[in-house]
Amino acid sequence: MKPIVILDLEWNGTYSKRLKGFINEIIEFGAVKTDSHLQPADTFSLFVRPQVGKKISGKIATLTSITDEELEHGWQFMQVVSRFRKWAGDCILMTWGTSDILTLIENCRYFSGTDRIPFLTDYVDLQAYCEKQMSYRKGKQIGLSTAAQLLQIDVAPFDHHRALDDSLLSLQCLRKLYAENTLQAFLQDATKSEFYNRMEFRTVTLCDIENPLLKNADWSFCCPVCGHPAEKDDDWVMRNKSFRAVFHCPACKKKFYGRMQFKLKYEGLSVRKSVHRFEEEPKKQEVQGKSSTSV
Ligand SMILES: [Zn+2]
Repeated sequence: MKPIVILDLEWNGTYSKRLKGFINEIIEFGAVKTDSHLQPADTFSLFVRPQVGKKISGKIATLTSITDEELEHGWQFMQVVSRFRKWAGDCILMTWGTSDILTLIENCRYFSGTDRIPFLTDYVDLQAYCEKQMSYRKGKQIGLSTAAQLLQIDVAPFDHHRALDDSLLSLQCLRKLYAENTLQAFLQDATKSEFYNRMEFRTVTLCDIENPLLKNADWSFCCPVCGHPAEKDDDWVMRNKSFRAVFHCPACKKKFYGRMQFKLKYEGLSVRKSVHRFEEEPKKQEVQGKSSTSV
């Protein structure tokens, strides 16, 4: 297997006149390369001299304790990328979650005009891998320090929110959970455009009932008590990015809300159906404290 390199980045959100919008400008690279026993073999740590934002924000300064003076001595982004590429070599690159990869794509696009990350060939999202190994609840992303604490790693020696220390702490998590066969399933080929399409795909919740994708869905519900097919009492209404309607069961008279949520993911449409307790909504007049004058 190729050596594993764990990379962590710090960045500063700043306004770009060229983009007429905000960019997360990378200000620090930190990484650790492992030997065949998953021990740290070498480390990489460099500041990036900002070219878009002249000053780092107060929030990031507090979070990272990086100063503007330190960054002035840094290299330019593409120089750091090139040095990192030489240092990392042919490796399996890991980051804690995909936001570092998305920020790299954003910075490569800005500074080199291409959204390809020059040093990325084999990728593992270490956060997703650790969540799987820890059977962490799906749909909720685990933070690095939370994972480390759950794994009973002493976090005290690590300077949290500094790139190198975060990469070293990530390695400690990996060491606790490492299993070669399960890791293989998380290995992504980052040389293909499919990788970038998937990375940059943003899941959207579909809220237009007229959307043709929604037409073929199964909108029917069964009674949560007796399982009999239920009947819908009113029209579908949009509530919290999902559709809701009142149903009743002709067999046991149970009344309930049926809820449908549609998300368009990279893999395709995902439908979530759920049943909720029916409650009478307070009438408008009561809420406003006014007496009704309409007939
Ligand atoms: Zn029923």
